[in-house]
Amino acid sequence: LPIISAQSSPDYIPDAKFYKVEAILRPWRIPLVSSALLKMGIRGVTVSDVRGFGAQGGLRERQAGSEFYEDKFLAKVKMEIVVSKDQVEAVIDKIIEGARTGEIGDGKIFLLPVTDIIRVRTGERGEMAERMMGGQADVSSVLPPA
Ligand code: ATP
Ligand code: GLN
Repeated sequence: LPIISAQSSPDYIPDAKFYKVEAILRPWRIPLVSSALLKMGIRGVTVSDVRGFGAQGGLRERQAGSEFYEDKFLAKVKMEIVVSKDQVEAVIDKIIEGARTGEIGDGKIFLLPVTDIIRVRTGERGEMAERMMGGQADVSSVLPPA
């Protein structure tokens, strides 16, 4: 399968500090995608089980060995990742790399500007809330010593 990456980012994207990359993907490709994201330092990811259909109405997509499937809605996973602007293209390329089979039903990626991020534990906003520092080290720097 030839490696492809996203075309260069177009000029209609509104400028923001943060973006949400929202990808609707094949469920069985999620482990590949998430381990690749983890490797590039992405640690904030949300996934949901969703059902959907695209241009083909789910009909041409092979599901459990059968080309015909009565329910047009196929099981997909929605992956949501909020990152700073400079990480967007790398995240999109990682998702394509991990999720692409070249067949109908590989999925789609939506890009949304995000206006702010608030970390509930600390009340931090914006850049400070977006930054994913290392687990316990981060926790102990904010919490009073035990
Ligand atoms: P803390 O340091 O307080 O743990 P955190 O930034 O690590 O804060 P969590 O409270 O662990 O965030 O996040 C809760 C959930 O929010 C995660 O399980 C994940 O679903 C989602 N999440 C956090 N950050 C992101 C992000 N940047 N993009 C997408 N989802 C995120
Ligand atoms: N940009 C963050 C960082 O590098 C990662 C954001 C995320 O994990 N979604 O710390």
